Amino acid sequence: MLTGITMIFIGGDARQLEVITKCIELDATVKVIGFDQMQKPLEGVEHVALQGDILSEADVIVLPVAGCDDEGNILTPFSSHSWALNDELFAAIRKDTLIFTGITKKLLKSKSGELGFKLIELMERDEIAIYNSIPTAEGAVMMAIQNTDITLHGSTCVVLGLGRTGFTLASTLQALGARVRVGVRREVHMARAIQMGWKPFATTDCKLYEGQIDLIFNTIPTMIVTAQIISKLPRETVIIDLASAPGGTDFRFAERRGVKALLAPGLPGIVAPKTAGKIIGNTICQLVLEEFHLRGDEK
Ligand code: NAP
Repeated sequence: MLTGITMIFIGGDARQLEVITKCIELDATVKVIGFDQMQKPLEGVEHVALQGDILSEADVIVLPVAGCDDEGNILTPFSSHSWALNDELFAAIRKDTLIFTGITKKLLKSKSGELGFKLIELMERDEIAIYNSIPTAEGAVMMAIQNTDITLHGSTCVVLGLGRTGFTLASTLQALGARVRVGVRREVHMARAIQMGWKPFATTDCKLYEGQIDLIFNTIPTMIVTAQIISKLPRETVIIDLASAPGGTDFRFAERRGVKALLAPGLPGIVAPKTAGKIIGNTICQLVLEEFHLRGDEK
């Protein structure tokens, strides 16, 4: 149980509602900032202002998946106000406070180093990334269906990158009857692809982008679908770029050549906020329990 633990949630989308629900179920004291415009008001929480004295009460602070940007701004789709963390607010956070965020940008990382609070970057954790890859793959399939006039069954799909997202996506496409090719750079991924019945190729080998390719799904977070590669693709090929912004596609050149290329950020939050929120909520609660148990703090 999270009895006696004060958790402050600052902003977030529908996923955060699931996390809040889970923490309330486990009896945490939950305070929220940026949830003043809900259709159905949140029950069991205290709405508070973003102030230093409030933040200094927090055992745990939960930021949205996107964390905060380098100006401290926090996404608050359920609020009519905009909220931001500034130097004064950061300074009010206690050293023993745990801060959860999905991803971390420069400001948050440097403040954690400077002020000593513990920052937990959820999307860096394998278990979260693997669970999250399920709604991501479903979202990618949804985008593929919406943006093509062919079935995935029988199509030729290229998945670039065989990490946590790429692997799940390649399996999902295969299960739908697509011919799957995977672009990788490591021998071990070549072997895994062959074992799975996918055709692997080295991402550096531009020749392998020739021939019929109906869809390219990119999960590599660096410029990989270059103008050189796009120039070899049939014009009907659709590129769905899942890698974090700015993606790994030369979107300018794709547009110029008339190849449809779409950046597809935040799919779990779009297609399955409830599932995505549960994944995050379970991990946060587990980590908070472990941390306070380790500290011998039976609150
Ligand atoms: P990951 O497990 O680290 O996988 C990334 C893969 O890219 C790895 O297999 C890596 O290969 C490969 N790679 C990196 N640089 C490469 C290069 N220069 N050439 C060839 N391969 C390269 O990451 P992930 O969890 O799958 O996430 C992938 C991306 O998707 C991230 O940007 C993440 O933020 C994003 N994402 C987006 C959504 C969405 O909704 N759009 C959802 C989840 C994740 P090695 O193993 O050889 O290093």
